Amino acid sequence: MANTYKNTMNLPQTDFPMRGNLPASEPKRLEKWEQEHIYEQVLEKNKDGKPFVLHDGPPYANGPIHIGHAFNKVLKDFVNKSHAQRGYFTPYVPGWDCHGQPIEHMVEVTLGPDKMKETPQPELRRLCREWATKYVGIQRDGFKRLGVNADWDHPYLTYIPNFEAGNVEIFRDMYLKGQVYRGRKPIHWCKKCHTALAEAEIEYSDEVSPSVYVKFKLDAMPGIFEAAGATGDAYVLIWTTTPWTLPANAAVCLMPDADYVMVQVDGSNVIFAKELVGEVAEIAGWEDYSLVCGQDGQPVVLKGKELCGLTYTCPIRQDLKGKIIYGDHVTLDSGTGCVHTAPGHGQDDYLVGLQFDIPILMPVDDNGVLTEDAGPFAGLDTDDANPVIIDWLREQGTLVAARKISHSYPHCWRCHEPVIFRATDQWFVSMEENGLRGKAMDAIERDVTFYPGWAVNRIGSMVSDRPD
Ligand SMILES: [Zn+2]
Repeated sequence: MANTYKNTMNLPQTDFPMRGNLPASEPKRLEKWEQEHIYEQVLEKNKDGKPFVLHDGPPYANGPIHIGHAFNKVLKDFVNKSHAQRGYFTPYVPGWDCHGQPIEHMVEVTLGPDKMKETPQPELRRLCREWATKYVGIQRDGFKRLGVNADWDHPYLTYIPNFEAGNVEIFRDMYLKGQVYRGRKPIHWCKKCHTALAEAEIEYSDEVSPSVYVKFKLDAMPGIFEAAGATGDAYVLIWTTTPWTLPANAAVCLMPDADYVMVQVDGSNVIFAKELVGEVAEIAGWEDYSLVCGQDGQPVVLKGKELCGLTYTCPIRQDLKGKIIYGDHVTLDSGTGCVHTAPGHGQDDYLVGLQFDIPILMPVDDNGVLTEDAGPFAGLDTDDANPVIIDWLREQGTLVAARKISHSYPHCWRCHEPVIFRATDQWFVSMEENGLRGKAMDAIERDVTFYPGWAVNRIGSMVSDRPD
């Protein structure tokens, strides 16, 4: 007998389906919302309410939506709908960023490298625009399917002339006020994609790099060591994981208040941080070495700051002189406490270089190839140059140790190749001219409320500390 007990129970009766069946019922519900113009109806109902406008940070129109888009748009929709239900007037204009490298990159991938080279610029622009238009449509359908309520028929698209005109007007204003200037600054550069990369376009992953210890010959034996009896040539010992940047060396940066000593080994005198003597001796395989000592038998010690101003012969460009300087970015975590400084190849180097008026040498071209200014290494790719430079230094007798290390290194988010740091001529907007920094800080501190509150420190220090 079939189960008839249920007939003996007093169960509630409902037409409500037993299962959600969302794949079928959601599209029906969304269609109903669209037919009934729910978005417009809610605006109409709340038209006298206090405005609450969520400004949509636009996604790139470069591919179908993924879980990141879903997360972003659904959270925004929570915020908007919950405000609408509390009576706020909540117009929500979605937007798309239709310019820039994410879209160019997709067009480049589709064409392939050979066809890409042959395609004229206007044609490339047309293809990019087509790509953006296509994915605005695809993403819009995706966002609608997520149930997001927005003014989908009137989005802002960055390629609309009206929008571009707004940009041009602001640029004109800044230009006429003298805020726009051209300068040379080091930036992350992908030699494969031939492009500068913003910090947000960098991914970090482990990379095996050379780790070399190189001594640079000082122009004279510092008096204090000479007085303690040191004779012959004196050197400063640096450590680097990027030998290809040595042709751009222009300074050596020390930690201002750390102790520096002179180590005598194999007939030469090398200066570096006292705290790292044991570690360096082990890496370099020094069996017999000693520190230059004073009459009291104690090592002669100088602070980094006190060595500032000494000059040396640059390691590759031996026709140039470099300078000993100091900076707060130097640590004694690894290396020698003497940082090879090439202002064209590093942010810290660039900043400390500005402070001490160190020239920005830039012997690497857009393809990542060393130029004539790299002396004997002209024509070599930066990766290929590493072993050649290491061998050359060994022949010169200035290589103290070379090994390999695995460390976290910046990579291009598009092609996943390691990037290089390289100074290029770029356009900048000054934060000082016309008081832009002051205005931005006022707005951050006075006009804007941040959630969570600590976020104000992060953006505040980005704006206040960034050099012009
Ligand atoms: Zn790349």
